[in-house]
Amino acid sequence: MKTETDNNNFVAVCHGEDAYSNAISALERINLPDLAGKKVLLKPNAGRKVLPGKGITTNPPVVAAACDFFQKIGAEVTVGEGTILGVTPFECLESTGIAFEVKKRGIPMIDLDAAAGNKTEIKDAVVLNHVMISSGIDDFDYIVSIPVMKTHMHCGVTLSLKNMKGCLRGREKVRLHQLPQPEIPINEKTLDLAIADLATVLLPDIVLIDGSIGMEGLGPSAGVAKRVDVVLASTNCFAADAVAAVLMGLNPEEIPHLRLSAERVGQSILLEDITVVPSNWRDWIKPFELPPKEISLNFPKVEVLDCESCSACVSTLTMFLKRNYGDIADYLPLKFAIGKGHNEIPDGTLCVGNCTIKAGGGNTIVKGCPPVSSDILKALTSN
Ligand code: SF4
Repeated sequence: MKTETDNNNFVAVCHGEDAYSNAISALERINLPDLAGKKVLLKPNAGRKVLPGKGITTNPPVVAAACDFFQKIGAEVTVGEGTILGVTPFECLESTGIAFEVKKRGIPMIDLDAAAGNKTEIKDAVVLNHVMISSGIDDFDYIVSIPVMKTHMHCGVTLSLKNMKGCLRGREKVRLHQLPQPEIPINEKTLDLAIADLATVLLPDIVLIDGSIGMEGLGPSAGVAKRVDVVLASTNCFAADAVAAVLMGLNPEEIPHLRLSAERVGQSILLEDITVVPSNWRDWIKPFELPPKEISLNFPKVEVLDCESCSACVSTLTMFLKRNYGDIADYLPLKFAIGKGHNEIPDGTLCVGNCTIKAGGGNTIVKGCPPVSSDILKALTSN
């Protein structure tokens, strides 16, 4: 295999319209261990039941390239995913077009949510003392994280590090959003601290970041698809995420979960410590629009009381508003509440998601975790 360096802080970036070729070329340029006979789990981002090409999930040609590359060097390849609640990994792998490529190659797929969970203690945790990791990953010698390059309304970006959250067992993914604030005074969001705690026990061995079609704005699922035409490969997830962030026009040190995670495990996200090929990689920087601070700003006469929600509820509500705003004029102005942090929700609010049940009082509650957009419409029009 052709390699260009032994430096572990090495990232290869390949640019062009052909996502498959970019992925193969990027993988060929990094220095991998001997994977012949090794069990390799490919973990794409197929966490939602959506069509390909929207920038929400990993582009199928990139997963196809990873399948071909790792098979060619003798690895025993499997593709696995764990999803948000309400959908199954297999239906998401199907809808996203990934299953088609995987099945064509006779490669098995696994549902990481169907496996039991391993309770893993986290030493010196700040907020996440233990975590339930899917035992579906136990059989593998190497994990390859294959995220899609996206902005994230709560984490700034979601890249190879955050993609590992799909390896958590079932509801454990939601628990990361529901942790209480730490008792020590610390000016960081609980979710960022939890991801940093998780990084001490769960990291990918190899990273292939799909920037062929990413997502800007209200990611991870309600933003706008963005063509960047890059794929990055590395054996260092921190270096890869840092370089991907720069390609998105962002400063890696201003992405809290990335900075905190790197600090916790003694890795650098400073560009001066990272070798990137080719040297002109910055020519491909395409600044991403960041998520808006408040989603209601985009929808006049809609107020959203968002108190410690997770991205699934924000996405559901945003998708609801995007699809239905033009048809709900008779119901405006509207007030919605999402998230677990409310003490008391004012009367006349439509409460969305199970997290609002406790504080919802006599308001209408759209149940679900996550709730579904069509139920919001039903609740609204039946009142
Ligand atoms: S109800 Fe919504 S905010 Fe609460 S955990 Fe579920 S998806 Fe997240």
